[in-house]
Amino acid sequence: MLQIYNHLTKHKEPFKPINAKQIGLYVCGMTVYDYCHIGNARIFIIFDTIVKHLRASGYKVNYVRNITDIDDKIIARAKKNGETCQELTERFINIIHEDEQTLGIEPPCVEPRATEHIPQIIELIDTLITKDYAYIATNGDVYYEVKKFPSYGKLAQQDLTSLQAGARVEVTEVKRDPLDFVLWKMSKPGEPEWDSPWGKGRPGWHIECSAMSAKHLGKHFDLHGGGVDLQFPHHQNEIAQSEAAFDCKFVNTWMHVGYVQLNQHKMSKSLGNFFTLREVLKIYHPETIRYFMLVSHYRSPLNYSDENLNKAQAALTTLYTAIRGLNNITEATADKYETQFNAAMDDDFNTPEAIAVLFELAHEINRLRINKQTEIATQLGACLKKLGAILGILQSDPEEFLHANIDSDLKEKIEGLIAARTTARTNKGWQQADQIRDQLTSMGIELEDTAHGTLWSKKP
Ligand SMILES: [Zn+2]
Repeated sequence: MLQIYNHLTKHKEPFKPINAKQIGLYVCGMTVYDYCHIGNARIFIIFDTIVKHLRASGYKVNYVRNITDIDDKIIARAKKNGETCQELTERFINIIHEDEQTLGIEPPCVEPRATEHIPQIIELIDTLITKDYAYIATNGDVYYEVKKFPSYGKLAQQDLTSLQAGARVEVTEVKRDPLDFVLWKMSKPGEPEWDSPWGKGRPGWHIECSAMSAKHLGKHFDLHGGGVDLQFPHHQNEIAQSEAAFDCKFVNTWMHVGYVQLNQHKMSKSLGNFFTLREVLKIYHPETIRYFMLVSHYRSPLNYSDENLNKAQAALTTLYTAIRGLNNITEATADKYETQFNAAMDDDFNTPEAIAVLFELAHEINRLRINKQTEIATQLGACLKKLGAILGILQSDPEEFLHANIDSDLKEKIEGLIAARTTARTNKGWQQADQIRDQLTSMGIELEDTAHGTLWSKKP
C-alpha cells in the first residue's frame, strides 16, 4: 500500500485518496522571469516521477501546477529589460516548456496563471475581509491578520507566540502585526494593475495558490507539493487563507522536495550560486540529469557536483549496456522485479531503492547474456525499460545514449570503419577485417559482434 510522508503530521502515512476515481495534486510552480535553475528542475522531475508512478499504479491524477506571472521580481526585470511583463513572462513560459520536453517531463493537466484568475482571487480576498480574517491597511493594501488563525505555524511546527517573537518589526510597516501578509497590493504608477473593490492593484503571491487550487481541485484535495523553502511561510499562508475562507480542511498530505546544494550551501537565485538547467543540459544528457535527481530521496538535500553527475552518467551507461542490442519487445513482465520496484516507490517514492532494483535486473540480464539465454534476457530487458520509464530513464536508443559524448566526426569515422569491416567479413576478407579491428582498438574502440550487428564502445 502506498505510504507518503506528510509534512503536516511529520509521519509516513497510508495514502487514501478523497475520491477513489481521481487524485488532486497541486504543485507550486515557477515565478517566470528567468531560466529554470537546477533546484526548480528537481521539483519538476520529482513530481513528474510521482505522477508517472501513481498513474502506472492505476490512479487517475489531476495534476495542477501554477505559474506566477505577476510579482515584484517580474515587474523589476521587465523594466530593466525594457519590455512588458507579459512579453517577459510569455518568453520564459515557452522556455520552461521546452526544457521540460527535453527532460521528458509530461506537462501538468492544468497550468493556471495568476493573471488569468484575478476574479477568483478578488472573491477570495473579499470573503476573508467579510469573515474578519483580513483588513485594509492605511496605505490601501489588504493584509491577512495572522493572529485570527490560531493554528498558524503548525506546518512548520512553530506556534504563533514563538513566530511573533522572532518576527522583525519594520519601522515603515502599515501592518497590524509583523506576521500579517499581503493579499492585495496597490499599484504604483506604470505597474500592471487590475480593478478591485479596494482600488487598482495586483494580488500578493500566497493568495493566488489558494484561489487557483480551489478553482481547479476544489476546496479540499489530496496532495500539495513544492520545494521545502515554501513550507513556511508560503504553504502555511495558503492553509490560513483557504481554511479560513472555506471552513474545511485544505489539503490532506503536504510534500516537500529538498534543496539542491552546492558545496553544502543551498543553491538559489538570491545567493547567486546556481546553475541554470540549460547550462547543465549543454554538458549532460537529459536522462543523466534525471538519474542524478532521483538517485537521492526527494526529501533529502541533493549535492550538485560534476562528480555526482559523472557518477550518474556512469550508472546509466551500465544500465544501457545491459539492454543494448536486445530486440525491442513491447509487453514484458518480470513479476519479482516489478513487485520490488513498486514496493520501493510505494514507500514514500523511494527512488534510490527503486534504482537499486534496476541494477539487480541489469545484473541478471548480463548473466543471461553471457549464458546465451537471449530470449529471457530480452524479456527482462523490456521490463528494465518499462520500469525505467516511470523514472524517465532508459527511454533513448542505447547506442545513441552510449555514444552521446563522442564527437560526430569521430563517430562517423568509427562507423565507416565498422561498415568496411562488416563488408570484408561478408566477403571472407578476414585479414582486412582484422586489420580494421586493430585500427579501431588503437583508437580505444571495443567491438562486440552480436546477432543484430556490431556494437561499439569507446574506452573511458
Ligand atoms: Zn503556491
